[in-house]
Amino acid sequence: MAIGYNTLEVEVDLGAIRNNYRVLCEKGYNVYGVIKADAYGHGLIKVSRALESEGADTFAVGTVAEAVELRASGCTKRIIDLLGPLDEPDCMALAENRIIPFVGCFDQLNLLGSVARNHKLEIEISLKFDTGMARLGFSSEELPDLISRLEELPQIRPVMASSHLATSDDPSYEGYVEEQTAKFKSILDTLELSGISVEPSLANSAGILKHDKINFCAQRGGIALYGGNPFGGTEWEALGARLKPAMQVSTKIASVHKLNKGQTISYGCTYTAEKDMTVAIVCAGYADGYSRHLSNNGQMCINGQRANILGRVCMQLTAVDVSNIPDVKFGDVAYLLGGEGGGAISPEELAAWWGTITYEVFCILGLNPKSYIE
Ligand SMILES: *Cc1c(COP(=O)(O)O)cnc(C)c1O
Repeated sequence: MAIGYNTLEVEVDLGAIRNNYRVLCEKGYNVYGVIKADAYGHGLIKVSRALESEGADTFAVGTVAEAVELRASGCTKRIIDLLGPLDEPDCMALAENRIIPFVGCFDQLNLLGSVARNHKLEIEISLKFDTGMARLGFSSEELPDLISRLEELPQIRPVMASSHLATSDDPSYEGYVEEQTAKFKSILDTLELSGISVEPSLANSAGILKHDKINFCAQRGGIALYGGNPFGGTEWEALGARLKPAMQVSTKIASVHKLNKGQTISYGCTYTAEKDMTVAIVCAGYADGYSRHLSNNGQMCINGQRANILGRVCMQLTAVDVSNIPDVKFGDVAYLLGGEGGGAISPEELAAWWGTITYEVFCILGLNPKSYIE
């Protein structure tokens, strides 16, 4: 997958991802590697191999297509499909590739059940429960019906159970995590009483790092693997201090010139120079996924120092202030994310300027062509 015309260079440090997996494994155990959406933009196959080398033996992807791609790459580990099947071809692909889908509603269960019956297949599934996210999953009220339906579908074998936390990264919502945990526990108890034996998982990255008592048998680690601190800007920030960002994004400078006091720059004349300045025009814009929301509101790292964005971000170009950075010239490198020394831009900073979360920054910038440091 790629956008733009290769002006941006996305460099992924697989060593950082391996480090972050080890950090998660100190608090969790049996940590599934969540590598949906092309491993949050870092590259599905490369990341799966890096995690495998650290001992990961279960991977969670998003769509059936991602699961099939991972299996086709030669991965022999357990693969979970978080979305689950949406139609009959999905069901067939899951069965043929020995992929464990999340199943979270009766429509999905019945679809899978009828495909399994018609084609004489045995399919392992992960039951998905809603305990407070209200997105996907069976409710506690549906549990009795679910158990009897499963009895009618002997070819469908539940081997895992899961639920997803809505607020595990937010100190002001600890109580909500506890409520979700209690609901999940009671669901697990009921399953056990019915003779359904599953491997439960509830925690995401923030859950693993903060709420280890909810670890159950397994956990699902995502954003922390990529060095996004789920607690950035909160009182729990230190819990993510040892996570190393894996993605750096850079591009080149196309022009360096003066901007005289009183001159404006870029579309709409939204920035006026208050003094004589030197500006660099950087080859990155919204066509590369570099959000226009960063107009007049964000920084890049050039020669290890910070340069403020001036005026509007354009389609493939953005102006920055290099008045205080010596010797910036045509062809020099500008970092949009990462960079050298003290000026390096963290994922949390970029996400804050952008008005979003690190997850979205990684997914969008990660659509550009990538290179890897092993
Ligand atoms: C994406 C996802 C995760 C991982 O969450 P992080 O916050 O990135 O650790 C875990 N479980 C499910 C169901 C997910 O969709």
